[in-house]
Amino acid sequence: MPAVISQTKCTGCGLCDLFCPIDVIHMEGDVAIMRYPDECWHCGACRLHCSKGAVTFEFPASMAGI
Ligand code: SF4
Ligand code: SF4
Repeated sequence: MPAVISQTKCTGCGLCDLFCPIDVIHMEGDVAIMRYPDECWHCGACRLHCSKGAVTFEFPASMAGI
């Protein structure tokens, strides 16, 4: 599953966009958006660099063993 960016937690610092190796995140005004979720590598760089906790990964229940 691709990274999910919280539009309420994001403060628009742009670091996720800067560090994403394949440029699938783009800034729109003061928030980051996942523009091409199907292309996400799940590398975690965006989450690592987000100090606001705005980036999460949502895995399907089947993958979580539920
Ligand atoms: S790193 Fe976090 S706070 Fe900064 S633009 Fe990305 S999602 Fe928003
Ligand atoms: S997980 Fe990696 S490839 Fe996917 S949006 Fe974040 S930085 Fe980009």
